[in-house]
Amino acid sequence: MSEERSLNFLEEIIENDIAEGKNGGRIHTRFPPEPNGYLHIGHASSICLNFGLAQKYNGKCNLRFDDTNPVTEDTEYVESIKNDIKWLGFQWDNELYASDYFEQLYQFAVTLIKKGLAYVDDSTAEEIAATKGSTVEPGKNSPYRDRTVEENLQLFEEMRAGKYQDGEKTLRAKIDMAHPNLLLRDPIMYRIKHAHHHRTGDKWCIYPMYDFAHGQSDSIEHITHSICTLEFIHHRPLYDWFIEKLEIFPSHQYEFARRNLSYTVMSKRKLLQLVNENHVAGWDDPRMPTVSGMRRRGYTAKAIREFCDTIGVAKRENVVDLSLLEFCVREDLNKTANRVMAVLDPVKLVITNYPEGQEEYFETDNNPEDESAGKRSVPFSRELWIEREDFMEEPAKKFFRLGPGLMVRLKSAYIVKCDGFKKDEAGNITEVHCSYLPESKSGNDTSGLTVKGTIHWVSVKHAKTAEVRLYDRLFKVDDPSSEEGDFKSYINPDSMQVLPGVYIEPELAKAKDGEHYQFMRKGYFCVDKDSTADKLVFNRTVTLKDTWAKEAKKA
Ligand code: ATP
Ligand code: MG
Repeated sequence: MSEERSLNFLEEIIENDIAEGKNGGRIHTRFPPEPNGYLHIGHASSICLNFGLAQKYNGKCNLRFDDTNPVTEDTEYVESIKNDIKWLGFQWDNELYASDYFEQLYQFAVTLIKKGLAYVDDSTAEEIAATKGSTVEPGKNSPYRDRTVEENLQLFEEMRAGKYQDGEKTLRAKIDMAHPNLLLRDPIMYRIKHAHHHRTGDKWCIYPMYDFAHGQSDSIEHITHSICTLEFIHHRPLYDWFIEKLEIFPSHQYEFARRNLSYTVMSKRKLLQLVNENHVAGWDDPRMPTVSGMRRRGYTAKAIREFCDTIGVAKRENVVDLSLLEFCVREDLNKTANRVMAVLDPVKLVITNYPEGQEEYFETDNNPEDESAGKRSVPFSRELWIEREDFMEEPAKKFFRLGPGLMVRLKSAYIVKCDGFKKDEAGNITEVHCSYLPESKSGNDTSGLTVKGTIHWVSVKHAKTAEVRLYDRLFKVDDPSSEEGDFKSYINPDSMQVLPGVYIEPELAKAKDGEHYQFMRKGYFCVDKDSTADKLVFNRTVTLKDTWAKEAKKA
């Protein structure tokens, strides 16, 4: 897919820059997460973009933690972010922290004060907001705007030294209170915050604002293409203003549209609420749109990269359909996952003419798509578990599975014919009785019969038990953030179903954490980390296409 597509607008810009010899043809991008949460699929798309461009154009990509806000940040997040990026298949050239630039940024601020381009303001946050003006009205100059350079230098130093309380003073850029772009009406560069920082400890009590930290950090690292999401487009003039006035390396900002996924939310603030209020079991809950949740669910890094590559970059925001991501996951797992048999909703099938105590083993391909996956043998005996839904007491038209008088093939084994069943007092089917045709053995079938349906099964006496967790969309509506009221009122109450007594073939009992399987006819599954020595737990990653549903629709 990726080979044939035309250049996206960022690639066009980059190829142009290379052709013009800008920065000596050097390409240097960065991925700048704020360590205040786990990465989600939107971040994954930004990672694929930034690291992907560096790879494609022989450049470099930095991982820079944008850790300028002490209150919400934590090293737990730093570790998870690094882990997720590596798992996605990328390696950064430098691991950097905006907090390492605090001294340099402070000196930049001093430079601007000396140039008469920054001042210490005693106004409160409310006063600053009230004098901002609006899109139709200019703002008002602060009464502190014309302090002398000396006074500003001294006050700023005192701010750093901890002489003032939170909110008592700010450092503002002196630009233009009537500027048509409100972000350029004397933006705040520094605020006072007596807070402990996860890396710098209590060294600082003033912290730079995003606008004063981000572009300068890019410039310090000589980033050539600073790619961010569209909401920063109005910040670009300010990004350029600081760089120009400081006369430092001219990094440039480029914007692309944020990627959203249907039936979920993407903002870290909202994801944190889901975690803190126990709507999910943690950041890596398999229903979460986080990289760690998707990994636990069984999505592969390759599928996620393919998805990000397919949606590409756009200039307008939109919601990408979850089914496209699921398609990429199926595509990858189809090639790599071994096929096994597991019965999720079991009912017993008794082969009345198969000798009691007899058993045999059938060799079967682990993956018909991949010969190198090898073979395994599956035990067969007189009593088997089959899916309850594969039997109908009164079969519907075009139901090609089991029902009185109907024949079906047992996958890799024999053709059986249903000649009876047992029910309990409540009317539930408790046993299905069949007879088998010995001459219909798979691979050596001389019965001359053709049957339309094939069903999976697990031998009762060889079966092991596992827990299976089935997942559905986390939200009932496709864009919960755009709905009225609290987004949490749109949570799907049936997003997880736990099946405690699933029968699996004995070979599968050796499955390990993170391994992927196709449970024939039931979907792709992986081993969950909640598994214990006594009991395996499987997550359903994604369903297969349901052929019966398709048949039913046609009928
Ligand atoms: P959130 O709103 O989810 O908290 P954020 O933008 O605050 O996200 P950052 O940690 O600042 O999160 O993001 C790191 C990088 O990932 C930024 O360059 C940001 O633009 C990009 N990014 C974040 N969310 C998305 C998204 N949904 N689609 C594409 N890129 C994104
Ligand atoms: Mg951000």
